[in-house]
Amino acid sequence: NHNRITVLGSFVADLAFRVDRLPARGETILGPSFVLGPGGKGSNQAVAAARSGGHVSFITKLGRDPFGDIARKLYADEGIDTGHVYEATVPTGAAAILIDAASGDNAIIVVPGACFTITTDEVDAARELIAGSSVLMAQLELPLEIVEHGLALARSLGVATILNPAPAAALPEHLYQLADYITPNESEAEALTGVAVVTLADAERAADVFLARGVKNAIITLGAQGAFVKNATMSAHVVALDAGAVVETTGAGDAFNGGLAVALTEGLPLEAAVRFGCATAAISVTRPGTAPSMPHRAEIDCLLASHAGTTTQPATA
Ligand code: ATP
Repeated sequence: NHNRITVLGSFVADLAFRVDRLPARGETILGPSFVLGPGGKGSNQAVAAARSGGHVSFITKLGRDPFGDIARKLYADEGIDTGHVYEATVPTGAAAILIDAASGDNAIIVVPGACFTITTDEVDAARELIAGSSVLMAQLELPLEIVEHGLALARSLGVATILNPAPAAALPEHLYQLADYITPNESEAEALTGVAVVTLADAERAADVFLARGVKNAIITLGAQGAFVKNATMSAHVVALDAGAVVETTGAGDAFNGGLAVALTEGLPLEAAVRFGCATAAISVTRPGTAPSMPHRAEIDCLLASHAGTTTQPATA
């Protein structure tokens, strides 16, 4: 399928505990609520892309355990191809997320587990799949050598690559040359370029650093300010869309990347593709949760139609 999107990334089970305050060392406290759900940036982005209209395959590795089964059921429900979801001998990863209900502060432990044991041979086994895709999308929640291997394979096959550099990690210079699109948020852009992104001019300076390193298209997401996009021939500030009251922004970046991948696969011009990503994310922030908050295509089209012609501004360089 020429419109296929292949995501190479992580799955972990998110265990979110709401507490009245974070516990001190050695202390046990009772909390009011607990939610278990699917997480991991790769998995969230695969769900976002599938719901926003993409034909999605996900390459990851899961344990043979109940957390792995949560992922398998999710992909079955969302129509995500799992032909290259491998089985690990170690348990599926998990994130313990402690949320201070009063302040909103959190403390998080992520154990990547099974997905982190994926091998370069297993990536190579997906060669045919990647060759038949129009986009390969990866994040930084797998070992760097795996990410690099996947991007290099896609590039060698003439398949466009999206690198969402999250969570931020120091990247070797040649990795940038393997990215057709890079999609950091403000803090990731700062960590990778040294440019503190506060204003649009800052976003442009950070984008210029990525372009100078060999990225073809730099897209910096700016939270409620939307996104800034630049390549050799254009730059634009795409304003965020308003889809209603903001409930929870967790997963906004994942929604953006999933939507962006779909729009690029469908051949939208870059600025319109970024706008589609912003629309996908704008709806996700009006809902609780990460994967469950991802919108379906009809909702995105409806939001875009209601904002027609009002949300893109040329960058003021
Ligand atoms: P998170 O870590 O919360 O998942 P992120 O930090 O990776 O998100 P952001 O830059 O905060 O990513 O947001 C990604 C995209 O989501 C933005 O480009 C924007 O289009 C959209 N977005 C974020 N916050 C809002 C908001 N309050 N209103 C509308 N759109 C938003």
